[in-house]
Amino acid sequence: MTRRFKSIDTQVVHEGEPQPRIEHAVAMPIFQSSTYVHSGETSYDALGYARLNNTPNHDVLHAKLAALENAEAALVTSSGMSAITTAILAICGAGDHILMLDSPYGGTRSFAVEDLPRLGIGVSFIDGDNPESWISKLDANSRVIYVESISNPLMHVPDLEAVVEFARKHRLVSMIDNTFTSPVNFRPAEIGFDLSLHSATKYLNGHDDLIAGAVIGRKDLVDKTLHLLNHLGGCLDPHACFLLHRGIKTLGLRVRKQNDSALCISKFLEAHDKVESVNYPGLESHPDHERAKRLFNGCGGMLSFTLAGDHEAADAFMSRLMIPLVAVSLGGVDSLIIRPATTAYASTPKAKREALGITDGLIRLSVGTEGVEDLIEDLLQALESYAQ
Ligand SMILES: *Cc1c(COP(=O)(O)O)cnc(C)c1O
Repeated sequence: MTRRFKSIDTQVVHEGEPQPRIEHAVAMPIFQSSTYVHSGETSYDALGYARLNNTPNHDVLHAKLAALENAEAALVTSSGMSAITTAILAICGAGDHILMLDSPYGGTRSFAVEDLPRLGIGVSFIDGDNPESWISKLDANSRVIYVESISNPLMHVPDLEAVVEFARKHRLVSMIDNTFTSPVNFRPAEIGFDLSLHSATKYLNGHDDLIAGAVIGRKDLVDKTLHLLNHLGGCLDPHACFLLHRGIKTLGLRVRKQNDSALCISKFLEAHDKVESVNYPGLESHPDHERAKRLFNGCGGMLSFTLAGDHEAADAFMSRLMIPLVAVSLGGVDSLIIRPATTAYASTPKAKREALGITDGLIRLSVGTEGVEDLIEDLLQALESYAQ
């Protein structure tokens, strides 16, 4: 695909928009119609029907998202999990096998552990930082290698270049959950990934007001995913398409601000004597800093840290904050904070959690678009006043 515009800020506004604009409307109208008058279509998937993801509200998003990641094609889905599960099932069937990053997003991990084996699909977990170890996990039926651009909640960056190379060498489909980086910071197709997946609920939409997903990448694989999605029914409603489309128009402005604020906050936390450790790939102290600097335009708005004291101290600190809301999810304009041991890892036994590095006191912050000076002042007053 040839790039029409130099800047992603132009792409988010103009790529994929109907030419000429529909009824001269500058903003994309909502096509709140489930069905469309038959006009000679000869295949089922071409019929005008909202579940088949082919309304004008879907078309504009598909073209825009493909352009944002410099990829051949894109597809929106009813949720991030719908994008992930449908794309995996479009490629793997009974008897096949998948290599997966060892601590992926909780929903993805549960799907891999609980559902894939029931469907006859084998899963082996891999250490994203140790490519030499992957070959021992490969078998003749391996079809997919699945990773994430930045892992949650410790913010590791796997060896993404090695993943692409390994996939090419062993004829695997390379898949990456690109939610945490967003197309502003990383475009997986540019380094050779076959498919990029998103929870569009997070940065792409950016306003904590809808659930959506996206699959972006090679056209043959996106088409296969669309065909299965049309059977499984995980379509995105036209009104949600409209909201997502509106959210994407400010993606560059939001994410660059979040990159800057999260780096600033990470440095502030790292320098505070009540803070024991900070995980943010933008910090020079982070083990994957060089890799992140080489691959990404910025490290996003997600960071985690631990304080002096136990989990009660962490809760006391969090309860003193005025700006970040205690809530799961991430990537929106509102700063959100959680303690992962009580949310995504609540049902993981403590010993296993700690072996993964998720201590009871670990705090995860999704930095929003508020003024960084207000966020730092708020963090400072909570740090100064909580009791260890
Ligand atoms: C939230 C999230 C998902 C799941 O997305 P939903 O939109 O909630 O279905 C998948 N991967 C990552 C990295 C996420 O943060």
